[in-house]
Amino acid sequence: MWPGPDRHINDGRLITPGLFETGVGQVLTNVHWPYSCSGAAHGSCVIHNPSNHHMRGWPTLWRADRKIMERICPHGVGHPDPDQPWDADSHEWIHGCDGCCS
Ligand SMILES: [Zn+2]
Ligand SMILES: [Zn+2]
Repeated sequence: MWPGPDRHINDGRLITPGLFETGVGQVLTNVHWPYSCSGAAHGSCVIHNPSNHHMRGWPTLWRADRKIMERICPHGVGHPDPDQPWDADSHEWIHGCDGCCS
């Protein structure tokens, strides 16, 4: 799904409160679910209130198959965004990784 390094790269942008364009140009509707600002246990939100993690500048990629937001590292590898409402020991964090997200 990654269109390649020549594609315009950004952090994603909120078009309207309900529409979010990811860093690879996917337009998401209904963005308050499951990344609800009020529902996120730790207070951060991948779209509305990203925490100050080192992957912030990487383009976001919505994985419709897993319903998660990933960040694409400079090598084209997707890593789950740290502002995911999962427990630290959740199996959801497991992914094919080149080490960039740690
Ligand atoms: Zn990498
Ligand atoms: Zn990773």
